[in-house]
Amino acid sequence: MGIMTASARAVKPRFPFFDLQVQFATIREEVMQAVEAVFDSQQFIQGPQVEVLEKEVGAYVNAPFAVACASGTDALYLALLAQGVGPGDEVITTPFTFVATAGSIARTGATPVFVDISPDTFNINVELIEKSITSKTRAIIPVHLFGLAADLSPILEFAAKYKLAVIEDAAQGIGATYHGQKVGNIGNFGCFSFFPSKNLGCAGDGGMVTARDPEMAKRLRLLRAHGSKAKYHSEIIGTNSRLDTLQAAILSVKLRHLDTWTSARQERAKIYRQLFAERKIGDAITLPTAASDYGHVYNQYVIRSKHRDSLRDYLQDQGVPTAIYYPEPLHLQPAFSYLGYQAGSMPESEAACEESLALPIYPELRREDQEHVVEAIAEFRNSQSKSTGRN
Ligand SMILES: *Cc1c(COP(=O)(O)O)cnc(C)c1O
Repeated sequence: MGIMTASARAVKPRFPFFDLQVQFATIREEVMQAVEAVFDSQQFIQGPQVEVLEKEVGAYVNAPFAVACASGTDALYLALLAQGVGPGDEVITTPFTFVATAGSIARTGATPVFVDISPDTFNINVELIEKSITSKTRAIIPVHLFGLAADLSPILEFAAKYKLAVIEDAAQGIGATYHGQKVGNIGNFGCFSFFPSKNLGCAGDGGMVTARDPEMAKRLRLLRAHGSKAKYHSEIIGTNSRLDTLQAAILSVKLRHLDTWTSARQERAKIYRQLFAERKIGDAITLPTAASDYGHVYNQYVIRSKHRDSLRDYLQDQGVPTAIYYPEPLHLQPAFSYLGYQAGSMPESEAACEESLALPIYPELRREDQEHVVEAIAEFRNSQSKSTGRN
């Protein structure tokens, strides 16, 4: 677990950072019916609900092909394998993301090459990409972090110029748009996670890869099930990465509500912005930004503060739950030390790890809770400016 100083004071949060219970209460009947149907059929592996979900998610993001798999991590791994990425190859991504993005690259035997982020979006800095491309580069994995699309146009241009695949890590971005187009359908592959805390979460682990090329879709289907089309006959080496029928059935139910939930997240982001503006604390913290042609889906609402750790402690004392995504950049973690990156090499990612703080955001978050969050941050700001003599 994280730093214990704040939690040692053991102030109970006034409301949860994230609440799956309230959401489940609204869909309990529908979910339980779908679950019962799977039990009645006893078709737990590759039941018809899996293909139904593939069609629905494909239609949702406008991708011609969608292949369900066991997790978002595997979605990335399978996309890389389908593209033929392996030992000796390099794949570009950022170090300010969940470990799975770079871990999946390493799992293929390829080398992750980190490119720093833009401080305002937390996404890959497209200005820095081209100088990291070598003759070994095979793919770029832009991450749509926190639900905000990466700047895909220049990435697609580099990809065309250097013949690279673009594999979108859309684990946090289902429904997010870039110039009006849903992410996950813009690069060659889109990788989605159905981990419970994602905007579309199942009752365990689950994932989906979307593809634009029918040949790639075929390879993905082979790869996720032992390289086999027919039982006990393998055409290529694959793995076991199927999505459970149960998860598919649950996800189909939840997908029907996704747009409503996404709007509710966006509405809460708007309320935070209004409340912060009313309190005039925009100078003390930085709010998430999104250009008008980006549809942010707010899987997380992440602010920045130069006094992040003391702010977090203060909020904890006020019963305001927060979280840190991510406390340590990937290039400085032991698992990636073999790549030889030094502290200071990715300054914006390193700063984001020190300064970013996620505030509660979910469709059912109450306005009074948001007011409490903003009030507590305003109090912290006032106590800070008193103690430093600033105003
Ligand atoms: C959650 C997540 C993943 C991995 O998804 P799992 O389903 O947990 O394996 C990959 N990338 C990012 C950015 C994520 O947030």
